[in-house]
Amino acid sequence: SEEKSLNFIEEIVENDLNSGKYETLVTRFPPEPNGYLHIGHAKAICLNFGLTQKYGGYTNLRFDDTNPVTEKTEYVNSQQEDIKWLGFNWKNELYASDYFDELYSFAVKLIEKGLAYVDESSADEIAALKGTPTEPGQDSPYRNRSVEENLNIFTRMKNGEFADGAYILRAKIDMASPNMLMRDPIIYRIKHAEHHRTGNKWCIYPMYDFAHGQSDSIENITHSICTLEYVSHRELYDWFIEQLEIFPSKQYEFARLNLTSTVMSKRKLLQLVNENLVSGWDDPRMPTISGLRRRGFTPKSVREFCERIGIAKRENLIELSLLEFCIREDLNKSANRVMAVLDPIKLIITNYEKGTEDLIGENNPEAEDGGGTRVIPFSNELWIEREDFMEVPAKKWFRLAPGAMVRLKFAYIVKCEDFVKDENGNVTEIHCTYIPESKSGNDTSGINVKGTIHWVSAQHAKTAEIRLYDRLFSSETPDAEEGDFKDYLNPESLTILPNAYIEPALTDADLDSRYQFIRKGYFCLDKDSTTDKLVFNRTVTLKDTFKK
Ligand code: ATP
Ligand code: MG
Ligand code: MG
Repeated sequence: SEEKSLNFIEEIVENDLNSGKYETLVTRFPPEPNGYLHIGHAKAICLNFGLTQKYGGYTNLRFDDTNPVTEKTEYVNSQQEDIKWLGFNWKNELYASDYFDELYSFAVKLIEKGLAYVDESSADEIAALKGTPTEPGQDSPYRNRSVEENLNIFTRMKNGEFADGAYILRAKIDMASPNMLMRDPIIYRIKHAEHHRTGNKWCIYPMYDFAHGQSDSIENITHSICTLEYVSHRELYDWFIEQLEIFPSKQYEFARLNLTSTVMSKRKLLQLVNENLVSGWDDPRMPTISGLRRRGFTPKSVREFCERIGIAKRENLIELSLLEFCIREDLNKSANRVMAVLDPIKLIITNYEKGTEDLIGENNPEAEDGGGTRVIPFSNELWIEREDFMEVPAKKWFRLAPGAMVRLKFAYIVKCEDFVKDENGNVTEIHCTYIPESKSGNDTSGINVKGTIHWVSAQHAKTAEIRLYDRLFSSETPDAEEGDFKDYLNPESLTILPNAYIEPALTDADLDSRYQFIRKGYFCLDKDSTTDKLVFNRTVTLKDTFKK
């Protein structure tokens, strides 16, 4: 078999393991529990867990929960569910908030080393002294407080003596550094807010840069993988670890996933949810893992997608149609073929006198074992798609039209003899005769027809609601457009067909079943289904029909 070339992170890991730099590979996936995970997170999950699957060692799940205001237990639970659904198991379930005591003592250590100070300047004053990328900043008037005074005020900050914003703790690094993040970054702030795990124990919280690397280090993470926005944070990451003399985790950056026709930040997705522009985090149009799951994506298809897009060092934009390609490939092999009529019109077979009969359908010609068979009831009254009949046929029309013949899938050849219209001129019934010798699998009629259409027997059919989805945004890059990204929502992203008819076999569908509705696409049952009303989502069309 062909050997796949390594991505640049795999190369680094292989080198580090071969050189003996580390004995055991330890990675982590560090979501902030401030929303549901999306397909971009799936990429990071596949990368982090994939590395330890390949090279041994283990991956921790660490909730990066240092910001009490936006974090919720609901999100913790959904994030765990989504990672498990993708097929990965973490070694330890950890929370940055579990390290609050340790992080506090790290801050004290920095103060004692003369490497951190309490500042009481306002945000504006701090900004004014920060300098610009080309000009050095200036020292804060509080930069040279004594260690004792710093320790005293920092303790009182922790004890809740001050209001939000009264003081901050800053690392004392270099106000002239070309890296703006090294110009005495804020490491602790006062925030009187209840935390989803620590409650009201703390009223000071560490900033991301003072929590992330140290948490990595506490867990002996060898390779801390993050997205490119953090390149400039690496210097600070290393500085804290060096000054604190703790385990030397190393940060590596890769290009985040950007996908066309959607947005991918939890903050923006939250806006769509809060403003009821979608039905929830798991709306099948959302790029969230829960949305993709509800839409009918399989874990395998999402992993395959992440594999195909690869790990790059430069930003890029991936076509949503690649994600659709991956699910189509998977379902083509795994989904049973069934019949459903989405926009029904009645077809009556005038010479069919048997009443009903049971036909046998092969479930999946693409499956290695044919996928087994099922019984499909047939009768003299069927539903077919309205679009499969043309009163005045177009050129090369191989479906039904007055006088034309077509094969009914798994059944017989029928010939259109007549049709009925209502007072508005809409066709309401099509009358056909059938050729008894033309039964599928046993056709002795000698008649060749070019078209095959699907159908369901009217007396056996179950009704269903069908939901068809299109791109959530009509712009390929809603984030890059002028104005609010929400102005670029696609008003036609959801089409509901309330009166579809489905084969009776589909009443056995459960939320894990996937189907190909012959000629119509791949579908799955939606959680809104009740015993009285089944609801199906179209996962993806059979072919890439997206208009550009
Ligand atoms: P968001 O803005 O969507 O909330 P985030 O980076 O703030 O993204 P986190 O919960 O902090 O979200 O992310 C957890 C991990 O997932 C991080 O390591 C982050 O780098 C990674 N990640 C987030 N978005 C993407 C993306 N689009 N592509 C690849 N990895 C991502
Ligand atoms: Mg983050
Ligand atoms: Mg974020």
